[in-house]
Amino acid sequence: MILGGTAEAVELARRAAANPKIEVVSSLAGRTSRPRRPAGGLRVGGFGGVDGLLDYLHQGAIDLLVDATHPYAAVISHNADQACRRAGIERLSLVRPAWRAEPNDRWIEVPDAAAAAARLPDLGHRAFLTLGRRDLEVFASRAGIWFLVRLIEVRPPTGFADATFIQDRGPFTRQAELALMREHRIDCLVSKNSGGEATHGKILAARELSLPVLMIARPPPPGGAQVASVMEAQDWLGQRIREG
Ligand code: NAP
Repeated sequence: MILGGTAEAVELARRAAANPKIEVVSSLAGRTSRPRRPAGGLRVGGFGGVDGLLDYLHQGAIDLLVDATHPYAAVISHNADQACRRAGIERLSLVRPAWRAEPNDRWIEVPDAAAAAARLPDLGHRAFLTLGRRDLEVFASRAGIWFLVRLIEVRPPTGFADATFIQDRGPFTRQAELALMREHRIDCLVSKNSGGEATHGKILAARELSLPVLMIARPPPPGGAQVASVMEAQDWLGQRIREG
């Protein structure tokens, strides 16, 4: 089983499904209404905590689990760790390497969205928020700041006095991000350190415009075996299929 919600999970499912010795099922939380459909089997929705996931692993006779969720999806990764330990199932985490700041970058690292919202008034008045819906609430009450908020699906959260919501899905190029930030006269970017190429354009654009970036720190990784690329995860699976 592949726990998904990332481009890497879709790519790993494609490669695994091409191997006739592997029966692959991907799992999505169901946050977006039109997700990219991975190759192989698919189930959608929460399991109901560790116990629910454990039941699913038993009922589906799952014998290997790759956690290819987003680096900030800490709850499901923790649950997968617990459930796999209890079921005696081997688990691998596929975690994208984080972006690294370069000497000219003006990153301000903060522990969470609330800390980013607290620092924002010192840094800018026209902020670009590139966070998920659930992280937005803490920004809504910030008076005196105009927000540009980009979401995969626009169901604007309530409470924002002064904001423009745009709906778009990556990948985003550096040029497009530069144009967007210039058009809206953005003076501060708020971002997670998602890593990967698809959303790196905003980091490059902020660097070019010398903008401060409030960078929300990653939660601690789930522990256990970990790889950084789809190819390594494919090798891990292949090795176990050959040995099994
Ligand atoms: P989370 O906080 O770690 O998980 C919250 C709950 O959502 C989990 O307890 C689980 O519900 C359910 N869930 C999460 N991922 C699931 C999956 N792949 N399959 C089945 N259930 C899942 O997760 P999140 O941060 O809300 O992220 C949700 C999904 O969006 C993840 O799959 C992640 O890969 C993707 N995503 C997240 C981010 C981000 O910034 N957090 C960014 C891009 C994509 P139960 O306890 O009921 O099992």
